[in-house]
Amino acid sequence: KISISGISKTYGHFHALKDIDLEIPPGSVTVILGPSGSGKSTLLRTINHLEKPDAGFIRIDEEYIGYRQKNGKLYELKEKDILKQRLNVGYVFQNFNLFPHLSVLDNIIEAPVVHKRLSRPEAITRAEQLLKSVGLQNKIHAWSRHLSGGQQQRVAIARALALEPRVLLFDEPTSALDPELVGEVLEVIAQLAKSGRTLVIVTHEIGFARQVADQVVFMVDGKIVEQGTSDQVLNHPRHVRTQNFLASVL
Ligand code: ATP
Ligand code: MG
Repeated sequence: KISISGISKTYGHFHALKDIDLEIPPGSVTVILGPSGSGKSTLLRTINHLEKPDAGFIRIDEEYIGYRQKNGKLYELKEKDILKQRLNVGYVFQNFNLFPHLSVLDNIIEAPVVHKRLSRPEAITRAEQLLKSVGLQNKIHAWSRHLSGGQQQRVAIARALALEPRVLLFDEPTSALDPELVGEVLEVIAQLAKSGRTLVIVTHEIGFARQVADQVVFMVDGKIVEQGTSDQVLNHPRHVRTQNFLASVL
């Protein structure tokens, strides 16, 4: 379970997030929608402390992100302990962010070998399974820079899963892809959605959101203006901003 309580974030005088509260149940899929600049990426980045909120807290399974609790008080974690926490939260970026100079296999096994002290053979066995699950077992020795965008994004998903994170965050995972490659990536994410992992997905793919989301959140100007089930928010939006947004993306 992810609990987001009272999160605010400012950049100079600009209020990017304004007192955000959100509960994300374990094993659920939450889709975040909203116009450009509404704070979707900023919110996602605060969940794994890539962005430190000015106020409020994130808890994942009761563990404070960025803080350690002792005698009822919170103390800021050191950078190396934040990195350790972050291993439990997979992040898939719009632009894949694979290591271009490494093979597909090395992209996937790097973090588990370095940070989780998995033996190389164990990590390779796991990478083979993961690549199979994203339909890319035959690309294990390819250079990542030689893959199509859709293939790179599927490798990026396998790489995130290699750390067996409790939570997976996706920030517009298909918006950098050519239209004909979007489906193969959404299909992989839809499979994950069924696997009982907790997913938080920023996307403009409304049809996909309808298919996978348990909860849909609509943000404007750093605030959540509407949230509910996908049927409530996508089929019966109550807020005029949500209505206009859905009309513009459909
Ligand atoms: P998009 O759909 O375009 O990705 P978004 O909803 O993800 O938009 P954010 O990237 O979260 O929006 O940005 C929210 C606001 O905060 C924007 O106005 C952005 O310019 C501002 N912002 C984000 N990061 C920074 C930063 N590091 N410094 C200053 N302003 C920032
Ligand atoms: Mg964004």
